[in-house]
Amino acid sequence: MQRTLSIIKPDAVKKNLIGKIVARFEEEGLRIAAMRKVHLSKREAEGFYAVHAERPFFGELTDFMSSGPAVVMVLEGDNAILRNREIMGATNPAEAAEGTLRKLYADSIGENAVHGSDAPETAAVEIDYFFRATELN
Ligand code: ADP
Ligand code: MG
Repeated sequence: MQRTLSIIKPDAVKKNLIGKIVARFEEEGLRIAAMRKVHLSKREAEGFYAVHAERPFFGELTDFMSSGPAVVMVLEGDNAILRNREIMGATNPAEAAEGTLRKLYADSIGENAVHGSDAPETAAVEIDYFFRATELN
């Protein structure tokens, strides 16, 4: 059993895709251990993506992530981190495999519909950024 942080990013929320994306995770056997709709401030987006602070796209990314509501979730299941990354597809939707969420729903490498933690260490930090232990069940 493993947990990972998933975000339905503002582009996908704007397109009314929350239900479709959550249904996909459930169909794939991942369980929603916690879920909340949030509208991040610029500062909160910067905190979440602090590891990317030196990247040239940091300003664009944090503007986008604070541009509207998003949904933050904890997904739980066997190998949940890797499974979620597989369901999401490559960062750039143009390179994402057929049937992945980013292939289906993303418009660009920046506005790419979903976030998923990439390793156990980052999953722990990212889950902790949004949820208290008592909210996971
Ligand atoms: P992933 O979300 O697949 O783990 P990264 O961790 O590399 O990808 O990047 C974090 C997020 O930053 C991406 O999901 C995307 O929203 C944005 N991003 C990544 N690369 C670029 C880029 N070249 N231009 C604009 N935005 C980018
Ligand atoms: Mg990443």
